[in-house]
Amino acid sequence: MAKKQFKTESKRILDLMINSIYTHKEIFLRELLSNASDAVDKLAYKALTDDGVGLNRSDFRIDLVIDKEARTLTVRDNGVGMTKEELESNLGVIARSGSLQFKQEMEEAGDTDIIGQFGVGFYSAFMVADQVTVITKAYGSDTAYRWESSGADGYTIEETEKDTVGTDIILHIKKDGEEEQFGQYLDQRRIQRLVKKYSDYIRYPIIMDLEQERMKERPEDAGEDYKPEWETVIESTTLNSMVPLWQRKKKDVTEEEYTQFYQDKFSDYEAPLATVSVDAEGTVSYKALLFIPGRTPYDFYTREYEKGLQLYSSGVLIMDKCADLLPEHFRFVKGVVDTPDVSLNISRELLQHTRQLKVISSNLEKKIKAELSRLQKDDTEKYRQFWTAFGRNIKYGLVSDYGVHKDMLMDLVIFPTSHGDEPTSLAQYKERMQEEQEFIYYAVGEDANKLSKLPQAERILDKGYEILYLTEDVDEFCVQTIGEYEGKKLKSINDEDALPETEEEKKAAEEQTEENRDVLSFLKETLGDKIADARISRILKSHAVCMTADGPVSLEMEKYFKRNGGETMPGMTAQRVLELNSEAPAFNALKRAVAEDRELAAKYAELLYCQALLIADLPLEDPAGYADLVCGLMK
Ligand code: ADP
Ligand code: MG
Repeated sequence: MAKKQFKTESKRILDLMINSIYTHKEIFLRELLSNASDAVDKLAYKALTDDGVGLNRSDFRIDLVIDKEARTLTVRDNGVGMTKEELESNLGVIARSGSLQFKQEMEEAGDTDIIGQFGVGFYSAFMVADQVTVITKAYGSDTAYRWESSGADGYTIEETEKDTVGTDIILHIKKDGEEEQFGQYLDQRRIQRLVKKYSDYIRYPIIMDLEQERMKERPEDAGEDYKPEWETVIESTTLNSMVPLWQRKKKDVTEEEYTQFYQDKFSDYEAPLATVSVDAEGTVSYKALLFIPGRTPYDFYTREYEKGLQLYSSGVLIMDKCADLLPEHFRFVKGVVDTPDVSLNISRELLQHTRQLKVISSNLEKKIKAELSRLQKDDTEKYRQFWTAFGRNIKYGLVSDYGVHKDMLMDLVIFPTSHGDEPTSLAQYKERMQEEQEFIYYAVGEDANKLSKLPQAERILDKGYEILYLTEDVDEFCVQTIGEYEGKKLKSINDEDALPETEEEKKAAEEQTEENRDVLSFLKETLGDKIADARISRILKSHAVCMTADGPVSLEMEKYFKRNGGETMPGMTAQRVLELNSEAPAFNALKRAVAEDRELAAKYAELLYCQALLIADLPLEDPAGYADLVCGLMK
């Protein structure tokens, strides 16, 4: 029979499995049992609406069969089975995202130590077996198939006989090597322990024949000196407790069990950052087990990422990723919801509109928020880890839909700040505000260090006011959406009225402007449409010049639009304002030149303009020209 080839990617992972020196090969069993359980889930779901299945809920099961002589371990399920096409596409190609991610990380790290942490699925069987045979019959099909492979050189598929629907995975266990005893996977007790360890909560019975020692019945005619006799009997035993973790009381579950469950079910190799378990009774009753992952899934910010919680109705899986249970801003949450109040055979279209789901999702949203707030308060380090992983998503949520989620999210947001190295929440900022301080200040730019040195930051910092350093694209939209936090306006340090002035100060500023009208109109004339305005600054202290913008589009927004392809869309450019400090010596030099030497004054104007651009992190239109200008002036 002709061998078919594995797809290249599969081959590579297969190679890794076969030659694996990974020490926890035992996880193969967890993988196969989880596949079996998925397959049974699928048929159990069909059985709800399709009498043709002919099985009751209690008929579904998974069997483990050990044959020591033949050195085989069989994982048998009466789930949906696979058609020939499914065999090809499911076992011949690596399709699951977890495996692809595994492959990527493997290539980067070149390390076999992470195998078990990923759960690489079906192929993990090749860590302990030198040959794998799959005999399967799909629900609704008359033909059964036998798939066989001894590794990377390919696989065969042929028709075979099988009475019932479902799948047998037969592992031909490797011979014991010098270092490794593969025989352990033919040992009943060992297998029993592995099931307990990794697959205890699987909701179908995992059944195996177990040899039990039993005391023989005492014969009726046994005399005084009868000694009890023992015999070995074989008993079909259910190895797992079958109670799903979320059905158990929180106090009865260890953190390790939660972690194990999370890693297994959601293919993460790290522990979750936080676990939330909910047991709600009321108009809608449900149990939920939610996890906040500790790192960003590699596809989180792509279209491929699918949010959602697993939805069960009284223990039967209805939907693997029920998106309606999670708002977009908490799309990183993983977990399970189990409710008897959603009908089992509801269609997916109708499901979206059920009131119950809405109630659950809005409750869960509050629970998640509460857990995040708790972390923020009690475990700064974890919260920072969370923020690094998903902060951007929270900010996106805040600015989306015209800010309707503002109240839910704004307390969660943290920003780098001039106050120390730890990012701060608005609440913390507010607590530190000076008595007379009117605004919550922010500066927008590339990095905190640059921002702290902005000329326009000087006066604010000197007053002892704190500045939030907004360094991410979405940040400025974020503060604009927030607008005001508990009565305190958020204010850009670029705003003309960033620092409230006394009447006297106001008057003095107006006088300055009046006095320097010539210089200002000279600047506007010389610089033309490079700037929208030139003014005597009210936000500078010791520095001579800076650039700000009038109108709704700030300089940083303009940069943002440009980065994102909106080159010169009308309304997306900032109206630049050149701000000058009338008390700076450079200004006096300019002023003198305007009066005495217009040619020189034009050079000074250009010079100051370019400096303002540089400070604002804006590109110079003609860097070489600028250099020449400076050198020329040095002569
Ligand atoms: P995953 O379970 O994450 O999809 P696996 O590598 O474990 O990845 O399995 C690949 C696919 O093979 C499964 O998605 C499923 O379609 C199919 N499969 C594996 N085992 C079984 C089984 N016992 N019954 C039916 N289909 C199975
Ligand atoms: Mg699997």
